[in-house]
Amino acid sequence: MSEKLNQLKEILGEVSDLGHAASVLGWDQNVNMPPLGGEARGQQLATLGKIAQEKFISDQVGKLLDDLKNEFAPGSDEADLIRVTSRNYEKAKRVPSEFIAEQAIVTTKAFEAWVEARGKSDFSIFRPHLEKVVDLVHKYISFFPAGNHPYDTLLDDYEPGMKTSEVQEIFSGLRVKQVDLIKKIRAAKQVKDDFLHKKYNEKKVWDFGEAIITKFGYDWNRGRQDKAPHPFETTFSINDVRITNRFEPGSPLSTLFSAMHESGHAMYEQGINPAYERTPLEGGTSLAVHESQSRLWENLVGRSLPFWEHFFPEIKKAFPAQLDGVSVKSFYKAINKVEPSLIRVNADEATYNLHIMLRLELEIGMVDGTMKVKDLPEIWNTKMKEYLGITPPNDAMGVLQDIHWSGGSIGYFSTYALGNLVSAQLWEKINKDIKDLDEQIRRGKFDALLAWLHEKIHVYGHKYDPQDIVQKVTGSKIDSAAYVRYLTKKYTDIYGL
Ligand code: MG
Repeated sequence: MSEKLNQLKEILGEVSDLGHAASVLGWDQNVNMPPLGGEARGQQLATLGKIAQEKFISDQVGKLLDDLKNEFAPGSDEADLIRVTSRNYEKAKRVPSEFIAEQAIVTTKAFEAWVEARGKSDFSIFRPHLEKVVDLVHKYISFFPAGNHPYDTLLDDYEPGMKTSEVQEIFSGLRVKQVDLIKKIRAAKQVKDDFLHKKYNEKKVWDFGEAIITKFGYDWNRGRQDKAPHPFETTFSINDVRITNRFEPGSPLSTLFSAMHESGHAMYEQGINPAYERTPLEGGTSLAVHESQSRLWENLVGRSLPFWEHFFPEIKKAFPAQLDGVSVKSFYKAINKVEPSLIRVNADEATYNLHIMLRLELEIGMVDGTMKVKDLPEIWNTKMKEYLGITPPNDAMGVLQDIHWSGGSIGYFSTYALGNLVSAQLWEKINKDIKDLDEQIRRGKFDALLAWLHEKIHVYGHKYDPQDIVQKVTGSKIDSAAYVRYLTKKYTDIYGL
């Protein structure tokens, strides 16, 4: 059997190599590529993707998986490798290559239309393209056996095993509590944050961010940080996990939080069992669990008071004029200011999930046919008013703000909010296991925290499904209670609720 396993691993290794080579091209596209390189790069990526797909869905892989199906003890790495690979194989086999080609064409045009529509704030430019994307999504769903809900098929690509009804149940309880919390905050006295929007030197901010993530334990011998239009993390191997970042003059310190966020993703990837390299068990288990890692470092650590009790004297030394007369407590309040805003990516912790819930409702509506694409701008604006108490002045600030739908990524959004919830669930457990965690953070010590995350989450890569690993580590499945407790405690203190 080990002969057959080796044969399978050899093919999977090559598929993984092709995927990572594509990631290098994608990274270069964002970091280095001159403007006119785009067309050739698109072709190169399509070619690599096609070769990888053909290799993976070959009859040989199917035969090997079949032969190895019952060969290994349940729970062993080999058994999980066969289980996860078989699931990916079954899914990939169902999607015809003509569909993938058609999708590439439709989404390329949809992306161009979205850029133009957003620029002109005119939904009608994007509408026919989004209608085509939704048609394709329906077609995609038709390749799979009917689930309880058509959206289940889409969600499963991002959160293996998660059901639409589970997400809806989690969100419906959470929504009421978050809307209520925001109402209370709006009635309280607003905190001051003018000093966050002064002019800060870009290089100094960048270096400060690197100093923070070095202390976190991001391994620079296996990583690097470059400038790109949007912050992201990308993995070429366990020994080459890169992040990107940007500097926005209007919000200079957001560079620090982006560095923390992306390093959270990266430390997950750097911590995965090296034995899983070049197999489907490499990489994080799901987008939500991945996001739980980035959010944990960015928010639970990076927006906490103990963290700034350590770093505030240093940041004040770096920016004495900007932070003149500012206390650590007022700095802490400022970086946690809650203000219902129109744009998801700028949203604070108290309002962020509501942006996600709105998108999920619209996606489900598009997929089950209860909402028409033409009605989305109006539905969007109505829900913004209901959840956040504000109305977008135009579609660029509303329904057109996100890139996801233009690329056909429907089913993705809820993972952001689920990641927030998981981060708080993990945090409660970590604080039970590391009793003096706050004190350690106050001393700028993060090694015990990172070791905990490595041991409980990172090392397992894709071995466990998301709900299973959350259950294994915290004792319950993904649930909103810990997040509500976290938000309530934090904002009760900051806003004196
Ligand atoms: Mg992220």
